[in-house]
Amino acid sequence: MSAEAHRFAVFGHPIAHSLSPQIHQAFADQLGIRLSYETIDAAPDQFEPAVRRFFAEGGLGANVTMPHKIAALNVAAERSEAAIRAGAANTLTPLVGGKLQAHNTDGSGFVRDITERHSLDLRGHDALLLGAGGAARAVAWALMDAGVQTLTIVNRSPDRADELADAIGEPARCHTRYWDDLEGKCFDLVVNATSIGVIGGSFDLPMSILQDHSTCYDLCYGAAAADFKGWATAAGTRYFRDGLGMLVEQAADAFERWHGQRPDTDPVYNLLRQRY
Ligand code: NDP
Repeated sequence: MSAEAHRFAVFGHPIAHSLSPQIHQAFADQLGIRLSYETIDAAPDQFEPAVRRFFAEGGLGANVTMPHKIAALNVAAERSEAAIRAGAANTLTPLVGGKLQAHNTDGSGFVRDITERHSLDLRGHDALLLGAGGAARAVAWALMDAGVQTLTIVNRSPDRADELADAIGEPARCHTRYWDDLEGKCFDLVVNATSIGVIGGSFDLPMSILQDHSTCYDLCYGAAAADFKGWATAAGTRYFRDGLGMLVEQAADAFERWHGQRPDTDPVYNLLRQRY
């Protein structure tokens, strides 16, 4: 069994910072699976040829991160419901005949982290989602599937929030508000799915939207989660979670699709937690 026959990769631009190789290698070591998992830096105009070449050369699976998640959906001949709903894919799997299947594990990874690792039962929760980009779309559907009572979506560009709520199509449970129209509202869960922590911006939100028991969750982790954590802490949250667990869980969902075995995510999460 050559390493080449078990070749996996993550595509992004930039990609050197990615933890995916470390996470997948740790899962593989745990389960006694031999693989090679590399990072492939592809500029946007090189993404499709690089992906085609990777799979033509025997690649068995690829993860995809920014800025290629929409392109990843478009290169695939087959798309899972999760990928269609998110309008983006983070997992590509080869099919017979050189075709690709696109899937999205961001939503399932988020829900698994928050419900299993952090033991939060989302049923009956009033949730606020900040953002309407690729990750927010995946998370919005996942929150709805997990049984939140209401989902309020706010986004800097309100039309994108409206599009997402329209796509979900349950106006009694899922609706939008303007970012500056949250005064007087209370939420059990506030999820930051914007890229403010990475590219800059401010969390200009009324602190009164949190209650004593409210959880704040940032899809970012490490230094990129500092701004939202700062707002959430100032607003008095006792339950702040970051996206490191989501990162590990979405990787585990992709790993399970490719290898047919589910790794134990806790040791990998705990190892990364020491560093981030
Ligand atoms: P996108 O670029 O698709 O979306 C970015 C979102 O952030 C949009 O809603 C955008 O609003 C909003 N935004 C950007 N700048 C500002 C600002 N200054 N003020 C207010 N809103 C702003 O990114 P993704 O959805 O792919 O990723 C979002 C974040 O989630 C990233 O930081 C990423 O690292 C993280 N992530 C974490 C994962 C994990 O496993 N932990 C997995 C996936 C993503 P607008 O529509 O107006 O542009």
